[in-house]
Amino acid sequence: MLREALKVILDIQELDIQMIRLMRLKRERQSELERIRTLREDLQNQVVLKENEVIDLKKQIRLSEVEVQELVSKTQKLESQQNVVKKVEEYNALTHEIAATEREKSGKEQRLSDLYDRQGAEEDLLKNLKATYDSTKSSSASLEQEILASIEAINAEGIQIKVKRDAMQEHADPEILRIYEKLLKNKRDRVVVPIENRCCSGCHILITAQHENLVRKGEKLVFCEHCSRIHFWQEHIAVAEEEKGTRRRRRTPSKV
Ligand SMILES: [Zn+2]
Repeated sequence: MLREALKVILDIQELDIQMIRLMRLKRERQSELERIRTLREDLQNQVVLKENEVIDLKKQIRLSEVEVQELVSKTQKLESQQNVVKKVEEYNALTHEIAATEREKSGKEQRLSDLYDRQGAEEDLLKNLKATYDSTKSSSASLEQEILASIEAINAEGIQIKVKRDAMQEHADPEILRIYEKLLKNKRDRVVVPIENRCCSGCHILITAQHENLVRKGEKLVFCEHCSRIHFWQEHIAVAEEEKGTRRRRRTPSKV
């Protein structure tokens, strides 16, 4: 009978809805995991970038130090030359050259002092980044474990649902099951729904009295004209449930 066939589909539908929710939850948890990993990798990349910046700065500093040192030696050389020249013009020329070298040197020293400041600031940043990375690494590790465990639990629950569903499917009318599965695939929501207060409880649109009568008769599948869901009459299912229970109760004593 149709109402009994629909009852089986309704039971399957409950499992399918559970499964859909479970898979949605699993996807959420997987993207959480992805977010945590991305965050950690981003931080790690930032640390590496900052480390390279500090290394570059140190190289620049070393170069500048050498340049300043060279200018110091140049000045010393010029001064010793000045000590031995005889002509006033030569002496004055050297004085100019020494002054120019000194100017160049103080420019370079200024730049070097800026570089030292930057090095200090960058090293502080690096230290903070490393600390953030380390604490993120340890806190995300435990969070990751938690999420992985919950995904495992979800998988186990999914297997249980599938086992139940496979068993139920054997009792289902293949044709109705096929139609139901196609609808479910489109809607990802309940597709066998009762009529409530003259409305389709799937799309909540009012249905005609004629349509309602067809559903009440329960002789064939009736689809919602608006959302294509399969309609059923609540009391039919209650009766089907009752009959199933009665049969089970009757069967049990006969076995003994
Ligand atoms: Zn509808």
